[in-house]
Amino acid sequence: MIAGERLSETGQWLESREGTRWWFDSGALCLDFAYTGLMTGTGGAQADGWERLLNAADLDDWLAERYTVTASGERDLKDAHTLREAIAHVAIAASVDKDPLRRDVDIINLYAATPDLPPRLDGGSRQAGRTSPRAAQALSTIARDAVTVFNGEDAGTIRTCDAADCDLIYLDISRAGTRRWCSMQRCGNRHKVRQHRARQRAKAAEKPSAAIAQTADQ
Ligand SMILES: [Zn+2]
Repeated sequence: MIAGERLSETGQWLESREGTRWWFDSGALCLDFAYTGLMTGTGGAQADGWERLLNAADLDDWLAERYTVTASGERDLKDAHTLREAIAHVAIAASVDKDPLRRDVDIINLYAATPDLPPRLDGGSRQAGRTSPRAAQALSTIARDAVTVFNGEDAGTIRTCDAADCDLIYLDISRAGTRRWCSMQRCGNRHKVRQHRARQRAKAAEKPSAAIAQTADQ
């Protein structure tokens, strides 16, 4: 697990293959969760070493950054992988305006139908309910988030990063709906650098022809 201060409510630290740590805010809890594994269809440079939930302890670490739940077991890990795969499939379909597979929708609905994490007001003196919330309830909360996001109830659009060599998917919740990049610091910045270089090249190409034109005038 890559540690670091959280920069926004949704999002997580990822590590590129070159070892650079960067913050990817997918815009939704369920998409953050999907990116703990390799989203099917996310190939190329991002494919290697993407799995972040190798064991129950990894799942506990990921959940602990967001919720206080009891330790998960092998069953929870298996459930997490099943739910995650369904969310990834539906997200990829949504990003290209395709209908999701019924099977994936059924899986998300199944987990969403189990008890989720109850809302909780800070400042109380004791624990509500007889038992501490379980990891399974957090999975239900994630599934319910997926229902909200994919039903379009969260005002936002599922998009893919504009960079030609990046296919990261996010929920665009910007007010104007104009988010283009997985991250401004990553693909956004690379785009700016490329634009700058193209302008420099264009300028450099203009100069010799201007000189020729001048010579021709003389
Ligand atoms: Zn990108």
